[in-house]
Amino acid sequence: MNNILGNRAAEFDDIVEYTSILNNLISIDDLSVEDVRHLILKAISYSAIDKSHYPPILKNKTIINLFLENSTRTRLSFEMATYNLGGNVINMTLDGSSINKGEVLKDTVLTLNAMHPDLLVVRNSKNNTAKDISKYMDCPIINAGDGSNEHPTQALLDAATIYQNLGDLEGLKVAICGDVKHSRVAGSNVKLLRKMGAEVRLIGPEELLPKNDLELYTDFAEGVKDVDIIMMLRIQKERLEAELSITEQEFHDKYGLNAVNIKFAKPDVYVMHPGPMNRGVEISSDIADNEAYSLILKQVEMGVYMRMAILDSLS
Ligand code: ASP
Repeated sequence: MNNILGNRAAEFDDIVEYTSILNNLISIDDLSVEDVRHLILKAISYSAIDKSHYPPILKNKTIINLFLENSTRTRLSFEMATYNLGGNVINMTLDGSSINKGEVLKDTVLTLNAMHPDLLVVRNSKNNTAKDISKYMDCPIINAGDGSNEHPTQALLDAATIYQNLGDLEGLKVAICGDVKHSRVAGSNVKLLRKMGAEVRLIGPEELLPKNDLELYTDFAEGVKDVDIIMMLRIQKERLEAELSITEQEFHDKYGLNAVNIKFAKPDVYVMHPGPMNRGVEISSDIADNEAYSLILKQVEMGVYMRMAILDSLS
């Protein structure tokens, strides 16, 4: 074990002793601190194992990916994670499905359930979809993003990426910047980071900030002062209720992260982004491509390991 995990071997012993009681993964609220810790360490342990040693935990199991909204990273990493653990995947998207012929989601879901999948991963533009359909499914359900509500697997992979680069999350200062109000990534990250003892502050124009008890900043320079991590977010154009009063150019000038305004943060600050990025809007290429700051591709990499950890815990 030592050679695989190096100095994390002791932590791996904790994983072995832990028994998961998870049935579904719909919200970060479903998870205890122990669950999160277990998933982080499990994902990191998968990152340290050679592919040829992945355990075939999902052999003879079939997972349905029901993606009714676009996705690159989340869907592909669930597929990759399933294949890595020896399982089968069926992908279903809006295009080519009977939802486009007028079938209601309840009937689609009852149809899928009648085929007895072993697990359902679902993404939809409506808040609470995963919760609403869980009553029609006999197998575990994973929320892969529901409207502007939550994206728990993204927050978990973000937490594992942070842990791998900075260690324990407790006491870390994290600024989430941009369209926080409509971002399900922010929704889950705020819950998870606070659960694990991190300090979270939000930065953005007033119209894109939610109303909550967190520290809110409309001034970028003030908001990023002393933070360990800046998480940048895309403007969720598909979820805006009304046209924004701030133009894209103004947003870029005031809140777009670049090599000049990153100097307001700590010199060793890390930058994260869940993707897809809009380069030149919320983030400039001089930061997105700068390995000294950017954890963005590390997040993608951890996305596969975290989804393996989640599938492993739910299967
Ligand atoms: N990929 C993330 C999501 O599905 C972030 C984004 O789309 O901006 O929420």
